[in-house]
Amino acid sequence: MISATASVKPPLVNLLDFDRKGLQAFFVNLGEKPFRATQVLKWIYQEGVTDFNQMTNLSKTLRTYLQDYCQIKAPTIVAEQLASDGTCKWAVEMHCGNRVETVYIPEERRATLCVSSQVGCALACTFCSTAKQGFNRNLAVSEIIGQLYLAQQRIGNAQRITNVVMMGMGEPLLNFDNVVAAMNLMMDDFSYGLSKRRVTISTSGVVPAMRRLNEVCDVSMAVSLHAPNDELRNQIVPINNKYPLSELMDACREYAKTGPRKHITFEYVMLEDINDSVENAHALVKLLKNVPSKVNLIPFNPFPQSDYQCSSFSVILKFRDILNNAGIVTTIRKTRGEDIDAACGQLVGQVQDKSRRHLKLQQAKTIHAN
Ligand code: SAH
Repeated sequence: MISATASVKPPLVNLLDFDRKGLQAFFVNLGEKPFRATQVLKWIYQEGVTDFNQMTNLSKTLRTYLQDYCQIKAPTIVAEQLASDGTCKWAVEMHCGNRVETVYIPEERRATLCVSSQVGCALACTFCSTAKQGFNRNLAVSEIIGQLYLAQQRIGNAQRITNVVMMGMGEPLLNFDNVVAAMNLMMDDFSYGLSKRRVTISTSGVVPAMRRLNEVCDVSMAVSLHAPNDELRNQIVPINNKYPLSELMDACREYAKTGPRKHITFEYVMLEDINDSVENAHALVKLLKNVPSKVNLIPFNPFPQSDYQCSSFSVILKFRDILNNAGIVTTIRKTRGEDIDAACGQLVGQVQDKSRRHLKLQQAKTIHAN
């Protein structure tokens, strides 16, 4: 009699969970040559093949094995919203029912995909709507690279995605291994072959992970700064209490030395009467004095129950001019996809909140209201 355990089939191995190194190890483990990895990567990401039987340069035995024990499984697009400016937002559902959001931003000379790294976010930046959703879990490699895979399929080959920004839901450096593997895949010549200058990770400042990143992955770095001193940053980007500005700036200096762009892009959300004064601008100039920097000012994007207002345009211009006049190249981020809530800080997905932050926030509001 066959025992119950013997008849249980092991879960299928999802090949989207491997970068090239991982896939090589997988094939070597099967007694195959490492080059099988590059063959399979090309089939998956360049030819769009999901049926192992069509991978004609693999032996029949290997194809049969892959058919029996492996799969190529991306998450699913369950909703699509198209903004008047061509920006497109997809709700991407994981097998567990959680949803994240992915945003496609076409421009004249490039097309950028904004990719999520976690379901929700464990950090609590006070001006971000993802933060208000709470946190469920890290995304797997297949769920991160899967967003690019799905997006490229959806828009078709006539338009290639040229840039990826890890600026969707979540703090990418708190999902280090999976994000690094997914970014390495994005840049792999046998996969999408994106330039390292065109893959950007954005972090709120997880200093030890910024230092580790230096060693394993070569991508452009953006840091969500948002305040020029510890007192204010502790309040609006609470991770600053753990990794204060002096440590963050050291890590930035180090990364800029080896990173592909030789500078760090600092993101600075413009919050009326919070961080947008002339004094704040001068303090920022001082803070960035010894760090190769560019600054990207982000007009605050409101969301239901947000407690902030966006600075007026004249204030933003003045802030920009102070930085530019001090020699720091400063741009104002064009807000895209506003009419479909696809702009920075507006991504919410559908998060089964495990951190109970959503609930705590609601309770605090009720107590406050009473
Ligand atoms: N957790 C990472 C990745 C998120 S990137 C990080 O903090 O960098 C999203 C960018 O949009 C960050 O710079 C974030 O601070 C900014 N942002 C968040 N909420 C925003 C809002 N409501 N308006 C404008 N920008 C916002």
